[in-house]
Amino acid sequence: MKYNKNRKNREKLAISQIQSAGMRLTPQRLALAKRLFSGPDRHITAEELHSELKYADVRISLATVYNTLNRFTNAGLLREFFVDSNQSYFDTNTEPHHHFFYEELGKFVDVPINNLNIEFLTSPPKGTQVDSVEVFIKLSKVDSSNKK
Ligand SMILES: [Zn+2]
Repeated sequence: MKYNKNRKNREKLAISQIQSAGMRLTPQRLALAKRLFSGPDRHITAEELHSELKYADVRISLATVYNTLNRFTNAGLLREFFVDSNQSYFDTNTEPHHHFFYEELGKFVDVPINNLNIEFLTSPPKGTQVDSVEVFIKLSKVDSSNKK
């Protein structure tokens, strides 16, 4: 895989953030960080990441993948979100943003926060204010004969 300069910088930044969060940079964590941060933004489950690492001959247990993803999330390197009741995804884009969700593919694409206008129908509860609104826009294909 070819990396451009930004991606390489991002990976370096992630590594320095891991270290400044007080985490030891084990070979497993490094491999995991490279998978997450050396390419475009990703939305991935622990299971998907675990199979990718296994395929790349990285010896790491699913429990360690979970644990590391949670630690990265706590350190602000990732954001965790849920789509179904118990399927959590980890997002490498930690800025507020919306998502297109291709239900059939189980795939997410980021939508910049300013690309969607939302009018509030209700006011927030008394004593609170709206800090941000993030939306999942579920999509399905119109022409199913052209399925990938
Ligand atoms: Zn995202």
